[in-house]
Order: sequence, then structure tokens, then C-alpha cells
Amino acid sequence: MSIQSVNPFNNEIIRQFHEATDTDIQAALEASEEGFRHWKQVPLQERSSLMMAAAQVMEDDLEHYAHLMTLEMGKTLREARAEIEKCAACCRYYATHAEAFLKDKVLDVSQGKAFISYEPLGPVLAIMPWNFPFWQVIRFAAPNLMAGNVGILKHASSVPQVALALEEIFRKAGFPDGAFLSLLIGNKKTEKLIAHPTIRAVTLTGSERAGSSVAARAGKYIKKTVLELGGSDPFVVLEDADLDKAAEWAVKSRMINMGQSCIAAKRFIVLDKVYDDFINRFRSRMEALKIGDPQDDDMDHGPMAREDLAEGLLEQVQKSLKKGATLVTGGDRPNSNGAFFTPTILADIPKNAPAFKEELFGPVASVIRAMDEAEAIDLANSSVYGLGGSVWSRDLERGQAIARQIQSGAVYVNKMMASDPAVPFGGIKLSGYGRELSYLGMHEFLNQKTIWVQ
Ligand code: NDP
Repeated sequence: MSIQSVNPFNNEIIRQFHEATDTDIQAALEASEEGFRHWKQVPLQERSSLMMAAAQVMEDDLEHYAHLMTLEMGKTLREARAEIEKCAACCRYYATHAEAFLKDKVLDVSQGKAFISYEPLGPVLAIMPWNFPFWQVIRFAAPNLMAGNVGILKHASSVPQVALALEEIFRKAGFPDGAFLSLLIGNKKTEKLIAHPTIRAVTLTGSERAGSSVAARAGKYIKKTVLELGGSDPFVVLEDADLDKAAEWAVKSRMINMGQSCIAAKRFIVLDKVYDDFINRFRSRMEALKIGDPQDDDMDHGPMAREDLAEGLLEQVQKSLKKGATLVTGGDRPNSNGAFFTPTILADIPKNAPAFKEELFGPVASVIRAMDEAEAIDLANSSVYGLGGSVWSRDLERGQAIARQIQSGAVYVNKMMASDPAVPFGGIKLSGYGRELSYLGMHEFLNQKTIWVQ
């Protein structure tokens, strides 16, 4: 099987790679096992210096890495540069905070002294997606490498050049052999990897389908998993919200990365009193977006990441219209050779339409009317997902009270949901389990060992 790098701007093949063979995989596992034996002994200060160096490598070659992303999955260069900067910041965050996060935690016991010692587990398999192809990997790698684990990356098949670049970054920074490896393989080959005794744990970011299959396999071999899956997050606009601000952030929240973000706002639940007003403000902003060549700094957005994803989204939109949703703007694909999609708003979405019950992973916003606050909360929670919602109101106490009632891994008030190394990230329900980032993300793949001395 060959792994192809395709430019979604024109659907042309840029490069092709051979999939790693079983012998390559075996060699990577051995290197990883050996790498772990060495890496776990490396003093924390030295690990910190190497992680700082990785941040520097990314910044020194920022344009090159940003271009790779734009070429392979179509995000604008502007967004790609910001992603590399965020990755560098994440590396520095963990290089700085690892000591505090890994410090023994003393326990209050009746006799003697007891504490938790945080110890690495070993090689962790990271199965990662194409949407934030650097960030999703770095947010796993930075805390885990600092904690003494080593990583084997199986990146999405559509971003092989990024996968290789990530391995190169750690190598250039001076990380020892086996600390971080990238295997170019299709998803079928992960089955053997997950089962292999060298792999101690698995993290996956991607679809429910992939998450469920990987977790079932890992469960069979009693290996811990963290799953960061999809979302259909609510963006709740109350009647006392600053509507201009809400509409401005609605566009940013829905359209980030051409709408291909697990935490992008997807269902806009708007109170009846301001429903029409909000839609008008939202619509004019969506229609003003410039979509085109992602290498052109004048463009707001480029194509979607793959042709099949754009086609799948179109089908979801058409099915939603058949179920009774109304089209406010967009709803089609422009005539072009690339994986383009027109920014779209659907309104009056019935609960049985894909635009309400499924994840729409692209530039399509679903606006839903709520007659009052209670109905807004009920609609927000009427989803199989629960990743990261937001509430918009001038009354901060009211916003907070509603945030507590929304079933989700995170809720932001008057702020766009976004990841930040300092705060935990992850979902409930079909959005997955476990947390990434902050100290919680670092503790997921550690042996939290109790030591009691008497
Ligand atoms: P997938 O979930 O298929 O891909 C994500 C990663 O999982 C890739 O590395 C993929 O490898 C791997 N994978 C897929 N199936 C399996 C499997 N059975 N066992 C092991 N690994 C697997 O996402 P798609 O690219 O197909 O996108 C489809 C939908 O998934 C999107 O429309 C969106 O709804 C959701 N998604 C969510 C993301 C998020 O951030 N939460 C990110 C990406 C997608 P390979 O590429 O080789 O198939």
C-alpha cells in the first residue's frame, strides 16, 4: 500500500511513500523499547533543555513546517504558522512545569509517610488526525516525553510529510534514539501494534469509529487509552448577550481550520427574542469570508482537508434540508478542482436531522431556536457528544450557572472554546474520555505509584 500526500487545493498528488513493512515496525518497537530504558533515566533538567530545543527547532523552521501543513491539508498559512507557534509554546510550558507536575504528592495517613510517585509507563502509541497535524501530536508528545515516556506516532495517512517532520524535529533537538518515532502505516496495521507487549498505552484523536475500534483492541490487551473524539458543541446565545460580539465569535468558533475542529462550535442555540437578529449578524459575517488559495495571506480560509470529507459534508447538509432545516446561506460546493465548500448556515434544525445529531466536520453552522433558558440547556444537552461548549451573556453569574448545567468536558463563558496548555482538554459521552494538557494530561500515562514507608 502506498501512502499519498495530496494537495486539497487542487487534489494533485504531491508525493507518495511506501507503507512501513512488518520488519520496519518490529525495528521501531525495538528502538522504542531501548529508547525508553535510556530516556526514563535522563534527569528532568536535561529533558527540559531538549524540550526547549524542540520549541526552538520549530520556530527556526516555522515557514517550512507551516507550508507542509498547508500543502497536505489545506489550512491557510496564517493558521499553520499560528499552529507551529502554539506547539513551541506547549513544549516550553511542559519544559517549565514538568518538575512541579511530577513532584511526589504527600498523602495524609495515620502512620508513617505515604506519597504518590509519578513514574513513566513506557512506549505510548499515538494515533493522530490530520486536522491540527502538528498540534495534536505535540500536545501528546510534550507532556509524555517530559514525564519519561517515549512515543510512537501513527499519523493520519493524509499527512505523511508532517509525520516525518515531527520525528525530525525531536531528532534535530537532540532527543536520543527511540524517544519519538513516526511510522507511516495505514490504520489496519495498528492492530498488531496495539497488541504488541512493547506498547504500554494508546492515545487516539479522531472519529468515534476509530476510537471505538482502538479502545476495544487495547481493552483486550488491558492497555490504558485516552480518546479525544468528535463533538457537536453548543454555542448558547442568551437574550442579554452582546450580539455583535457573539456573532463575531460565532464565525471564528465555527470556521476555525475551515470548520474542521473537534471543539468548533457546531450547534448555535439562540433564544427566541434575539434569534432573527443573531442570524442576520452571523450571516453577513459568514458571507464576507474570503475562501481561496490557502497560501494567499488575503484569504480567510482554504479548502477542506480532503475531497471525500467535503463530499460527506455535502451529503449531511442535503439530508438535513430534506428533514426540514432551512438554508440561510451557502449549502453547496463551488466549481473548482479542490476540496472547497461554501461557508454555510442552516436554521430551524429538527432534532432528527444530521445537522443536529451528527458531527458536521466542516464550515456548516446549525442554528436552533430555544424559547427560554431551560429549553436552551435541554437542547445543548440533547447530544451524544460533550466536548466543549460556550455560553454568551452579559450576566456572568447567569453564564456560569448555565455552564455548570451543560454536559461537557469544558464550557467557556463569553469566550471561544480553545485549547491551552494550562487547562485540561477532553470530553464526556461519545466525545471520549481522559484528559490532555495541564497536569491532568501529563498524569494519564503515568504509574501513579503509592509508596508507604513505616
Ligand atoms: P479517522 O478517525 O478515520 O482518522 C483519525 C486517525 O485514526 C487517523 O490516524 C486514522 O488513520 C486512524 N484510524 C482510523 N480508523 C482506525 C482504526 N479502525 N484503527 C486504528 N486507527 C484508525 O478520521 P477521518 O480522517 O476519516 O475523519 C472522519 C471524521 O472523524 C471527521 O469528519 C470528524 O467527524 C472526525 N474527526 C475528528 C477529529 C477530532 O479532532 N476529534 C479529527 C479528525 C477526524 P488513517 O488515516 O490511516 O485512516
